[in-house]
Amino acid sequence: MSNDLESNQKPTPGDQDARLYVPIRDTENIKVGVKTSPSREYCFSKFPGEDYYHLLMHGEVYVTNGHDMHCLECALRHGFLTRDRLNWQHQQRDKTAP
Ligand SMILES: [Zn+2]
Repeated sequence: MSNDLESNQKPTPGDQDARLYVPIRDTENIKVGVKTSPSREYCFSKFPGEDYYHLLMHGEVYVTNGHDMHCLECALRHGFLTRDRLNWQHQQRDKTAP
């Protein structure tokens, strides 16, 4: 049982939870979907040093920025998603903060 503490917690490598967040500036553009068709579709990105695209699997969660589909790893790498749950706070001060 854990509380969601807002205070001074520094994420450390290996201390990541599974939750992902769309950076507040992108919430209008970024959509998350589940690939529901068995058709072959590929992540728009490649990892640096790799010369192939990632095949998105049936049932895979993906991210789209309105144009292209990205696997979650690439979405994180491109900043479409973040593990920084306080990213909104780092972007701007919000009076509705809890
Ligand atoms: Zn990818």
